[in-house]
Amino acid sequence: MIGIAFFIALEYREERSRQTEDTIKMAQSIMVHTDAHLLRTRDLARALAEVGDGLPGQLAAFRRQAAHLMSAAAAGGAAALYQADGSLFASLTGSGDPLAKTSAHAAAVAQVFATGQPFLSNVLAGAGAAGPVLAVYVPVTGGGKTTYALAIAVPASQLSAQLSDHKLPDGWLASLLDRQGVIMGRNRNAASLVGKPARATLREEVARQSVGTVEHLTQDGMRNFTVFVRSPETGYTSIIGIPRQQILMPLLQKLAFLGILVTLLFAAGLLLARRMGSSIARSFHVLIEQAYALGHGGAQARKPLHVLEAVQLGGAMEQAAELLRQRDADLRAQQDELQQFKFFSEHSNEMLLLLDERGAIRYANRMACERLGYRNGELLAMTLFDLDLPTAPELLRSVFDICRHSPHPPPPFERVYRCKNGSEFPVEISATVLQHRGEWLMHVAPRDISERRQAEQAVRWAAAHDALTGLANRTQALAFLESALARGPGWETGGSLLFIDLDRFKPVNDIHGHDVGDRVLREIAARLQACTAGRGLLARAGGDEFMLIMGDGNVRDPVRMADTIIRAVAAPVSLGNIEVALSASVGISLFPQHGETASALIHAADMAMLAAKQSGRAGARLYSHEMGEQAQFTLSVQHRLQQAIDHDGLRLHYQPIVNLATGLMDGAEALVRLEDGLAPQVGPATFIPIAESCGLIAPLGAWAAQEACRQQVAWEAAGLALTVSINVSAIQFRRAGFAAFIRELIASSGMNPRRLVLELTETAIMENLAESVAVLHEIRALGVKIALDDFGTGYSSLSSLSTLPLDKLKIDQSFVRRLETDHASRAVIDAVIALARSLDLELVAEGIETAAALHYLRERGCQSGQGYHFSRPLPAPGLEAWYGRQCA
Ligand code: C2E
Ligand code: MG
Ligand code: MG
Repeated sequence: MIGIAFFIALEYREERSRQTEDTIKMAQSIMVHTDAHLLRTRDLARALAEVGDGLPGQLAAFRRQAAHLMSAAAAGGAAALYQADGSLFASLTGSGDPLAKTSAHAAAVAQVFATGQPFLSNVLAGAGAAGPVLAVYVPVTGGGKTTYALAIAVPASQLSAQLSDHKLPDGWLASLLDRQGVIMGRNRNAASLVGKPARATLREEVARQSVGTVEHLTQDGMRNFTVFVRSPETGYTSIIGIPRQQILMPLLQKLAFLGILVTLLFAAGLLLARRMGSSIARSFHVLIEQAYALGHGGAQARKPLHVLEAVQLGGAMEQAAELLRQRDADLRAQQDELQQFKFFSEHSNEMLLLLDERGAIRYANRMACERLGYRNGELLAMTLFDLDLPTAPELLRSVFDICRHSPHPPPPFERVYRCKNGSEFPVEISATVLQHRGEWLMHVAPRDISERRQAEQAVRWAAAHDALTGLANRTQALAFLESALARGPGWETGGSLLFIDLDRFKPVNDIHGHDVGDRVLREIAARLQACTAGRGLLARAGGDEFMLIMGDGNVRDPVRMADTIIRAVAAPVSLGNIEVALSASVGISLFPQHGETASALIHAADMAMLAAKQSGRAGARLYSHEMGEQAQFTLSVQHRLQQAIDHDGLRLHYQPIVNLATGLMDGAEALVRLEDGLAPQVGPATFIPIAESCGLIAPLGAWAAQEACRQQVAWEAAGLALTVSINVSAIQFRRAGFAAFIRELIASSGMNPRRLVLELTETAIMENLAESVAVLHEIRALGVKIALDDFGTGYSSLSSLSTLPLDKLKIDQSFVRRLETDHASRAVIDAVIALARSLDLELVAEGIETAAALHYLRERGCQSGQGYHFSRPLPAPGLEAWYGRQCA
């Protein structure tokens, strides 16, 4: 708008200056026109003056001439001749004086006479009867001097008419001013205003300059824009006045046009803007929806857009949305992976740590926090070096370097981590170094190996110690002895080995059970430890056997130590209301005197211990070489047994078992004999313990059982219906699969199981009571009978006897043999008979050597018996013969 206003103002100015110029030109043309009229009149007057030479005489001719010229020139004014004083000399065109005798007239005539030059007057008001005039004065010369002044009066109305002839636009004013600013002519209101002075403002302006413009209020009350031009020829001023209104009109019109145009344009613009606005708004709405959808990550249906930029923006937003969707999907996938990783990491039972190259902990899972005792935030503010104290940054860096340059992760390695509470625990570390977003990170999985370490320690400890007493075990003792024999530091002068065996320990187990036995062993171990503290190595060699290995082979020391030990063991052991009295037999061997190897020394000490036992127990014996002879004997028996098993050197003898009531044999006990033809002859009481100690009891027992069964089947077939009793060693019975062996034995031999009796000692059964009972039940289920052999010698726990699945009790021969002489033995026999009866067990008395014994037993109701009184054990044919004699 400002631009348009400025433009209009400029236009107005130009229009106005153009109009001014045009008006000036118009005024000039009026001026020229007026000048031409007046100058023509002057020239006419001059021409008249030139013919006035003959005056005053030829006045008439002059008049004619003047009339002629005047009409030829069509000059409308009146002409007259004036004398120097201004008085009329003669009128040339009429009878009267055309000009009144005013001072202006007189001055004009005087000037003509004085200058001899023509003169144009100002408006002469009241000079003529017809109204204001102006006069053209020219000198008439005669005789070289001015004789008259010829004046032609031009009526001002003539000038006004001429001005009207110019056909100016309506409302325009054309006027002429004389040199004094009096109105000479006017195209409007001439009658009333010609002869009157123009407005002062105009006059002043006209006096100031010859060409110019002025705005003023005209005499007829119009506000005009006035242009004036003064003629240099006449000094008169031509004026054109344009009503201000008319000048402003085009401008106003233009303004109005512009206003309308602007209004129209504005309206059109408004419409367009409205349309565009609504299009933009719709587009924006769509874009907003799109942006909203984009912001919420949802998909937005494509809607039409109307604005190019909006379309471009929409396209860009769609691209952005697609990009966001893609990123979103990627992010979601990453998040899923991360959550998965986090889920598994957090629920892992393993500790997990993530470290950077400076050792800073960047991640720690729940397990790591729990195990180390830190809150997660605390761990994340820590470094590895706060947990793994000995680890230096250089070490960590080197692990990073190794991992970076190797395609395989390093093998697990072990460290020690410290918890918040200061406790430490060993860890096995699996480390993997990976590059993540340009950064190298180490994934550390420290596995707590405390339990493994403890287990290893426990295994190591168990391998070297006795679980019951905590003492060193046989293996450790052997190793210790080996190293002592190597004569390392402290063993330069040799040493000693004490073999300690508890006397009468077995009955403790049998009577009080293994729990008590174990507690007794622990107590004894503690006492031994107290005696031997700091002196060599104390070990439990097995069962009730202990070993002490001491440095310095001085004899006195081990003997003194043995006495101390014997005294310590002799003190009764009290366990609640149970009191156990034990003793120890100690065998001592010295090295290097008694042997250079561990086994030789142990054997020597063992021999010495056995000797101590044989010489009444609760004593100590130093090994002597004679003891070695016993060992030699044992070895030879061992050898003979092996040979006999391998080369059919064993035989079975059968001792009849007689029904005491009928006196008839109803069974036989199979007793093994070593018949290898070598001297000395050894009986089962000697070789069975050796076979048990050297592992030959199993093949020996198996052979005896098979042979006995074979014999029974043979007798059965021969019509001799005998029950055969087989002795079963405790070692044999305790071996796994014993029941299956019996089952197989019966099946393979084809014998009637009811004809088989297994004789077991109390020791064999009581050792592991629960398991023994189960095995016995299994065997009895086959139909086989069980007899408890040597009853009365094993300090049986009478309370557990009732729970045993037994058929017979065999009262030990030692009681029966002493029956006649020993009152106590009789008492025992009586008690056992009563017991067997109450338990509904068949009682068999062994060792009946006399008829008196037979009588005593039969009288008291003992059912069966065996002994030399009936028969010694006999080979099978001998038994058959004996039986034959019996029946005969
Ligand atoms: P046992 O089972 O108590 O056998 C009875 C022992 O007493 C036999 O000794 C027998 O000859 C002996 N005897 C029988 N009647 C009398 C008598 O009136 N007076 C005397 N003084 N002794 C009599 P033997 O044959 O020397 O056997 C000794 C032990 O050897 C047996 O005692 C048994 O425990 C064991 N034994 C024998 N044969 C075998 C066998 O095949 N296997 C197993 N494991 N042990 C056997
Ligand atoms: Mg027996
Ligand atoms: Mg016996």
